[in-house]
Amino acid sequence: MTEQRKLRIVLALVAVASVATAAQVACEGAPFHFSLFAQAGQPAKPDYPIKPVPFTAVHLNDAFWAPRIEINRTASIPSAFQQCELTGRVNLFERAAAVLRGEANVDKRPPGYPFDETDLYKVIEGASYSLSVTPDPKLDAYVDGLIAKIAAAQEPDGYIYTTRTIDPKNPHRWAGPERWVFERDDSHELYDLGHLFEAAVAHHLATGKRTLLNVAIKAADLLVVTFGPGKRTIWPGHQITEMALVKLYRVTGKEAYLNLAKFLLDERGPGPYPEGERANPRGLNYNQAQLKVIEQSEPVGHAVRAVYMYSGMADVAAVTGDQAMRAAGKRIWDYLVTSKLYLTGGIGASGSGEAFGQPYELPNMTAYNETCASVGMDFWNHRLFLLEGDAKYIDVMERTLFNGLLSGVSLDGKTFFYPNPLESNGQHARQEWFGVACCPGNITRFMPSVPGYLYATKGDSVYVNLFAKGTANIDLPGGAITIDQDTRYPWDGAVKMIVKPKQARRFQVHVRIPGWARMEPVPSALYRFIDNAGAGAKLTVNGEAVAGASKAPFTPASNGYVTIDRTWSPGDTIMLDLPMPVRRIVSNDQVIANRNRVALQRGPIVYAAEWPDNPNGKVRNIVLPDRNALTTEFRGDLLNGVQVIKGRATGLAYDAKGGLIRTDQPFMAIPYATWANRGRGQMAVWLARVDAAARPTPFPTVVTTATIAASKLPNGRDKNPRNIIDGEEPASSSDSSAYFDWWPVQGSKMEWVELTFAKPSTVSTSELYWFDDTGRGGVRVPASWKLLYKSGDQWLPVETTGAFATARNAWNTVTFKPVLTAALRIELAMQPSFSAGLQEWRVK
Ligand SMILES: [Zn+2]
Repeated sequence: MTEQRKLRIVLALVAVASVATAAQVACEGAPFHFSLFAQAGQPAKPDYPIKPVPFTAVHLNDAFWAPRIEINRTASIPSAFQQCELTGRVNLFERAAAVLRGEANVDKRPPGYPFDETDLYKVIEGASYSLSVTPDPKLDAYVDGLIAKIAAAQEPDGYIYTTRTIDPKNPHRWAGPERWVFERDDSHELYDLGHLFEAAVAHHLATGKRTLLNVAIKAADLLVVTFGPGKRTIWPGHQITEMALVKLYRVTGKEAYLNLAKFLLDERGPGPYPEGERANPRGLNYNQAQLKVIEQSEPVGHAVRAVYMYSGMADVAAVTGDQAMRAAGKRIWDYLVTSKLYLTGGIGASGSGEAFGQPYELPNMTAYNETCASVGMDFWNHRLFLLEGDAKYIDVMERTLFNGLLSGVSLDGKTFFYPNPLESNGQHARQEWFGVACCPGNITRFMPSVPGYLYATKGDSVYVNLFAKGTANIDLPGGAITIDQDTRYPWDGAVKMIVKPKQARRFQVHVRIPGWARMEPVPSALYRFIDNAGAGAKLTVNGEAVAGASKAPFTPASNGYVTIDRTWSPGDTIMLDLPMPVRRIVSNDQVIANRNRVALQRGPIVYAAEWPDNPNGKVRNIVLPDRNALTTEFRGDLLNGVQVIKGRATGLAYDAKGGLIRTDQPFMAIPYATWANRGRGQMAVWLARVDAAARPTPFPTVVTTATIAASKLPNGRDKNPRNIIDGEEPASSSDSSAYFDWWPVQGSKMEWVELTFAKPSTVSTSELYWFDDTGRGGVRVPASWKLLYKSGDQWLPVETTGAFATARNAWNTVTFKPVLTAALRIELAMQPSFSAGLQEWRVK
């Protein structure tokens, strides 16, 4: 048995054994509170005016979140730890420690990336959150062992960055020749430390231990003596250190950490930089250094870096009262929700630079929407709510949470999406792990904290932000209260809340009326419902109407809340009824990809049509006219239990002569976040409303019925070459709707694609349409290529006098001496420093 397998079994056993402990703790009403923010009732240092009710005080027992949080604990966290061991991420610390002990013959190879160690930090953070809710001595001990390895890899002055410690003369090529000089580029030294600080704070709050916290403090103290006014200047190439330092400040009370967080934000900008230091060659937008942060208005560049920075800005604004920083965050948020937010709450339109696109540039199939960016969106939107008290931030947070974030992890918790596209031709599938493995770790640390997003307090008042069955123990200055929620949310909009103060007393409860129930899918004109069906939430206390009723002392909705200000007696019951009809949404016309298209939403859930639920496994050929009625039902047998949408639609297909066949057919859609749990195939969020927006199914040919394979991509990357033979006519070489490429492979002299016919066929013409994303990415037509056919076990070149052309935006046709063959093969060489790809291949 391998060590990894042993580990997995140990963790699995531990998971089962600790259920009883968790239940006991819950019954005893664990008084222990875990807050990453200042808590209600603490002597006030300046901080957010609104305090979240910590996730340790909110116990969910619903059918939606509780099972997912448990799967995160029992499947995702053990599997991510296992991957950290398997892929050498733990070993990095062991090797660095061996070098520090002066051992000889240490393996000095650099890691895949200089930020590989952050994956371990993130999973420790997730495990700590989990431990704080569900005690688990074996997991606790395992984490202690990892922390000992991390501590042993710390250099005497506090520096931790394993690649440089392992081999100071030849660290990873992004590390730079000495400490910090490539930080503004891609060394990720501060990013690594930021994740260390986040993990350390979580571990300390969860366990009370200082082991990892002491490592973090020693590293943070090194930063404090190195950087700051009158010392060296720097800003993080990849943000997170800013918000991590604020957490470290809250836990330790050391103002130097807060000052450094503010310094790192204030210093960011277009330079000039000290000699020998450089910004990222991808440009200043890439890591949000195009302007001083307080001057910024547009979200640009790498989306994860951006939202981590905006979160740090909110923290620093909250704690220091910096109004310019606060105003900048609000401006950037307005810009984002006006033109750069996907309906799923995802952000980052472009895979090139993992970045925001231009305003209204929101393509669906190539949408990047990194899972980490969704996690960062929820960090940021939650912070803006805590700062501003406006429910519009919770509206966006909820949209991201239920859709673009949750899609990042499979229902079994074992596989993950890096990008979260809104359309697929079968090329997308979740994976267990990645070469750049940021997303799984981020899911592991986010999921246990979900209950912490439900409630917040301000003075002697409570905000109810999200709805889920469970019990919250809420500290208020006037005395602790309990709120019991009973609801089937998000499948049903009826929410019963029983308010239990210890004895009758007056305080306020602010109940959020979600934007989607107020005819506002997002707080901007980017998306709109096409009708007003289901408008009007109802709210009662002990059966008496609240909003719209004349009874004092109820105050009208403001900032998205209805405030109920009354004397509450134990057992007083709030009933919120949010109607949940199926809603059709259309996009602002400036979003070209969504023109003549419609999306479906019900409650907070965005829907997608997926291949197993629609005729012939196709959804891109579907037209869903506005007049077609839609119904909804709960399917307990499907995808761990989901509400589905059903109706009739029109399926389009071409006949042999290119004529259009229109077929009335059943239609079904599932929650977007649950797609890709049943194998690869087509999926679409934005569906055609008219024929012209659909992709009719091509008439079957010798090619569309063939099987296709391509040379493999590195790091377990997985793209589906079936796009090459989907029969769809590309609009141009840069058409991003359905292609195959070898990116990030560049300059390869030999890649191949093989087409195997359903039965041996006589062919004499090949037509190739190359993929080339000049101006957007790094894929170009190839330097050269050739065409082979299968003869027995051999590949032979076709006989032709024609050229193997590489024209862009055109079919490249080769006519050759007819051959009866089982298969054809393309071999190509890429241009130096570029990748290659294909749009479509036709054979006659
Ligand atoms: Zn990621």
